[in-house]
Amino acid sequence: CGIVGAVSAHNSVPVLVQGLQRLEYRGYDSCGVAVHTGTGLLRARSTARVAELQTQVTQEGLSAGTGIAHTRWATHGAPVVHNAHPHFSHGPGDADQRPARVALVHNGIIENHEALRAELQAKGYVFASQTDTEVIAHLVDALYDGDLAHAVQAAVARLHGAYAIAVFHKDEPQRVLGARAGSPLVLGVGAEGAHYLASDAMALVGVTDQIVYLEEGDVADLQLGRFWITNTAGRPYTAEQRPVKTVR
Ligand code: GLU
Repeated sequence: CGIVGAVSAHNSVPVLVQGLQRLEYRGYDSCGVAVHTGTGLLRARSTARVAELQTQVTQEGLSAGTGIAHTRWATHGAPVVHNAHPHFSHGPGDADQRPARVALVHNGIIENHEALRAELQAKGYVFASQTDTEVIAHLVDALYDGDLAHAVQAAVARLHGAYAIAVFHKDEPQRVLGARAGSPLVLGVGAEGAHYLASDAMALVGVTDQIVYLEEGDVADLQLGRFWITNTAGRPYTAEQRPVKTVR
């Protein structure tokens, strides 16, 4: 029931895990974090508490500037590790033979997940979970043309239901896209060009108090030193339309 995302010049993993801890009050059955190391995608997932995820992350030495994290309240698929987010897409074909290309977290429910799954399976995508969420990861992969913003805009246009998502791609190590419709999501403007996503500004307390509240149908493009907010057709909003507010 919570999302945190980050693009930073420094290691974001402590911010991601602390952010999840600040969202624990919402309740959850599992949690996870994925990072872009610069060369590839890594993740840790757990059906225990965020404190346990923290131990796993430390043991595995997960460290990177770009990452996404999630607490899950299962709606589709049992609360087991393989259904925990982040979900990966390795592209069509045998996932074991290819590196992960897309990492994605999602809060909400995708009503048309069955039709999308059938369509993606026909293209050769193999599903690793029973979640409605995994269709979004493969959809972003299928629509990716070298620009993650285009892929996310096109993907969310196909979704029926409620979502807040955060996603990154193997080929764009310092970029995280977010989108929302029916579930909350905010963007945080941090120090030294860092940008963050969170379900609630409270997840970013101590990290930044500079918050842009995303509205229904917004797509947020986070990079190091800059960000854009657009509609699902890619039309950008001005700083007056999506102002940075100081929360306290
Ligand atoms: N529907 C998704 C799932 O069951 C997301 C649930 C959530 O909002 O945490 O995995």
